[in-house]
Amino acid sequence: MTTSQPVPTAADADLHARLEAERDQARARVAELEVEYEQLLGNRDVIQEDRDTTRRILEEARGALAAAERSLAQEAAGDYGRCSECGQPIGDERLEALPDTTTCRDCA
Ligand SMILES: [Zn+2]
Repeated sequence: MTTSQPVPTAADADLHARLEAERDQARARVAELEVEYEQLLGNRDVIQEDRDTTRRILEEARGALAAAERSLAQEAAGDYGRCSECGQPIGDERLEALPDTTTCRDCA
């Protein structure tokens, strides 16, 4: 994993790399949590609460992965950065903070 880079001028290439990095990160996190959850399920000494907590985190991670994949699909279709509610551009600043958002600030 690379550390944060200065903002390059090739915005599209950067966006694609950023979305892919995010997707890969989310995928790795899901894989990691799936292993952890399997281990918890197989361990009789683990209390149910811990299993539930890990399952919740795993579900969140899966949600993040789905969002990252949706962003990549939108980018491929040329729709990335457009609000799904009003169709207006979401804006670079908001996308920078929330790369997977599908709505602009007004519609959020
Ligand atoms: Zn909107």
